[in-house]
Amino acid sequence: MATTSSAATPCGCSGAARAGPRLKKAYIALGSNVGDRVAMIEQACREMDSRGIHVLRTSGLWETAPMYVLEQEKFVNGACEVETELEPLALLDALQDIEKALGRVKLIDKGPRSIDLDILMYDNQKVDNERLQVPHVGIPEREFVLRPLAELIPGEPIDPARPWKLAQDYLNELPPSPEPLTPLTPLSPYLAPIAALDGKRKTHIMGILNITPDSFSDGGITTPENLVERLLHFAQSGATMIDVGGQSTSPGTPEATLEEELGRVIPVIKLARKLPQTARMTLSVDTYRAAVAEAAVAAGADIVNDVSAGQLDPAMLPLVAHLGKTVCLMHMRGDPRTMASLTDYPEGLIPTIATDLLARVAEAEAAGIRRWRIVLDPGIGFAKTGDQNLEILRELDTLRRWPGLEGIPWLVGSSRKGFVGAVTGVKTPGERVWGTAATVTAAVQGGADIVRVHDVDEMGLVAKMSDAIWRV
Ligand code: AMP
Repeated sequence: MATTSSAATPCGCSGAARAGPRLKKAYIALGSNVGDRVAMIEQACREMDSRGIHVLRTSGLWETAPMYVLEQEKFVNGACEVETELEPLALLDALQDIEKALGRVKLIDKGPRSIDLDILMYDNQKVDNERLQVPHVGIPEREFVLRPLAELIPGEPIDPARPWKLAQDYLNELPPSPEPLTPLTPLSPYLAPIAALDGKRKTHIMGILNITPDSFSDGGITTPENLVERLLHFAQSGATMIDVGGQSTSPGTPEATLEEELGRVIPVIKLARKLPQTARMTLSVDTYRAAVAEAAVAAGADIVNDVSAGQLDPAMLPLVAHLGKTVCLMHMRGDPRTMASLTDYPEGLIPTIATDLLARVAEAEAAGIRRWRIVLDPGIGFAKTGDQNLEILRELDTLRRWPGLEGIPWLVGSSRKGFVGAVTGVKTPGERVWGTAATVTAAVQGGADIVRVHDVDEMGLVAKMSDAIWRV
């Protein structure tokens, strides 16, 4: 019996098609090697979004040596997954229009360009016409395309004619590159981006500036003179970053009101931006409130450091996406008042932190935060026992290499924490400097990119020595 239920309508389209054109999934390559390369790519992503080419996910941004024309600057390359109603040629037109709008200058084929947007794949279709070949013919030989693509779709085929051959297979077949590639994570206009897979990178020191009346370990900033003194101390120490917080997260401390937190944090960020010695340091705001993050960025903060990774304020991740700043997503359970009792990890500590952070990264990306704008923090002392804190330090490298997290930089905050006191028997947090030094050494060995510390002078030296041992 002939089935007619799915028969086409007189116009030749199915009933479902009448609801509007189907959204197609495509993969776009992003490249730049002129000017502010990351900014160009971010601008291109915004342009795509505004033209109905909705960016769903992005790869990291990999720094790559030029191929073909060798006498030119290094490229930054990435890929993104998009959804669009545009048909392949209309999509190509739109991408070329964006290239033009961004002032693309291309003097020679495969030479320097401020922005390059190519269609890698489109809806599992093959396109072969004089203007457009999809899948892009260059994919199999280009590590700068396959690395980002394998981050997005390691287990999916590239060529509809070879469904058994997956993106990761193509990448595995390439000869090893002379210098391993690394993704870049921009932090601020004043610092080179973090190259998280560069074995020679230097560890950043982030000085902690807690503006709380009862800060558990470094209170005492009660006068404007004290504050300036501390800022100058950070600048002289060689620290590259300052993390300003106005909300104590130690268990048992009542939550500050929004007004209190704003009143503590915003004047300090303004001051740090104004003082000539700290004006070009990278400033981070330690908050889980979107309203504080927004005001802090307006006052000059570069990074949003959210201990809840967006979980305590639903407005946080969309705000960070809108601001276009880098965010640090920390692993925590519950909130600072409940976390102490949430330390059961039946599936294993490290696998659970990894799985939880994979979910946080996916939420951040779904909110529009680009993957290259994410830093992770394992959350030492947050919903962890003393032994679990030690395990994190011992296993940091496993976390770094976890599938789906590789290439993202890590911030480690172990300074003066309770487990250091418990192991060393030093009750006063301000005197836990030697124990903290051992944790910083372990963090550098495990691959930390940023260590968040109170004792910036001492830990600066510890990190320098650790870098000399392991980052060569
Ligand atoms: P380029 O921007 O230097 O990568 O090269 C762009 C040229 O390649 C244009 O003339 C396009 O028509 C052509 N082209 C062919 N296939 C593709 C593709 N899959 N994506 C983008 N451009 C393509």
